[in-house]
Amino acid sequence: MSFEDLKLHPSILPNIAALGYESPTPIQMQAIPVAIKGRDLLGIAKTGSGKTASFVIPILNQLLSNPLGERNRKPEALVLVPTRELALQVADVFKALSQNLPQPIQSLVVYGGVSINPQMKAMYGVNILIATPGRLLDLQRSNAIDLSEVKTLVLDEADKMLNLGFKKEMQEIFDLLPKKRQNLLFSATLSEQLSGLNNVLLTDPVVLEIDSPAETEELINLSGYFVSDDRKGPLLRHLIKSQKMKQVLVFTSSGNKADKVAWKLYKNGIDASSIHGKKSQSARTQALKDFKSGKVKVLVATDLISRGIDINELPYVINYELPRSPKDFVHRVGRTGRAKTEGLAITFVTREETHHFKVILKKMKRYMDMVDSETLEF
Ligand code: ADP
Ligand code: MG
Repeated sequence: MSFEDLKLHPSILPNIAALGYESPTPIQMQAIPVAIKGRDLLGIAKTGSGKTASFVIPILNQLLSNPLGERNRKPEALVLVPTRELALQVADVFKALSQNLPQPIQSLVVYGGVSINPQMKAMYGVNILIATPGRLLDLQRSNAIDLSEVKTLVLDEADKMLNLGFKKEMQEIFDLLPKKRQNLLFSATLSEQLSGLNNVLLTDPVVLEIDSPAETEELINLSGYFVSDDRKGPLLRHLIKSQKMKQVLVFTSSGNKADKVAWKLYKNGIDASSIHGKKSQSARTQALKDFKSGKVKVLVATDLISRGIDINELPYVINYELPRSPKDFVHRVGRTGRAKTEGLAITFVTREETHHFKVILKKMKRYMDMVDSETLEF
């Protein structure tokens, strides 16, 4: 199947081609027609399977098929995401796909940690708003935005958006939206909260769950090391050097630890920086940019960037510390093995964590060969 077969507005097709997308991925193939029809949708598909374009394309298509009225701070589509970094990334896809359209479609990204005034000014005439929940509510409270004409709501990383951490903000946002609207929910993982809430949120939804082996091949290779805490640093350096890793994303469980690990690497002559919620937004943006461009070889991160972040052909992910939940594990390792490119995710496990680790693997339905680092010299 080709994008032409999806009967899209012809002006979108050159933009899709310019991104290098030759044919729709399985989730795109199924989700785009459903979303174009205006149906509610719950789309569950693996990390890196192209969920972003599955909502960006139908939203643009919809806006192109209906003449736009005077917008005046009344966006017609609202896309909510859990982090600022993901907001920026999704906004980039909207921008790339809205080049040279017969009528200009304006998208705007808003998130916290930066000055609100430019965002308030830029709101005028916006058709599509990509936002993190906190800043969206700030803008609403300043009367900078009117959500009463939102026709399509997207929750990317839907299970995260609907879990406890965002509950209060999301409830407030739902109350501001028109009752009658289209809801598009996407995630790689589904949680009990989501299955409960989708009854409230979604009206007669189409549920797409793309996970059969025929539809998606396994691109994420997994390997692991049993290692004591005090040998993790030396093992990390050994792996980076011996495997000549050029780009590796390392996950730790706290910002503090991320800083420490990055600093230790740096002191040992390995280019590294860290990213986590305690850093300033400009430092966060810079760290991710330098890592994506290859300027910095190692990025040590918390789960802040385990969700949705797309780093082109990232070859390695290392779990320096195990995440608490199997879901976080799925999202962390899912930063590699995206868009038909294979990747390797390496996990460090201490002896005390053996049980927790087994629980994660069981939930993942994966097996992992383990190496005992005691047998290695480094
Ligand atoms: P997900 O949200 O499912 O994790 P993304 O939407 O971030 O995945 O897409 C993952 C990667 O695949 C991105 O780099 C994106 O540009 C690329 N991609 C998306 N759709 C296609 C396609 N049809 N053909 C080729 N690459 C694609
Ligand atoms: Mg995504």
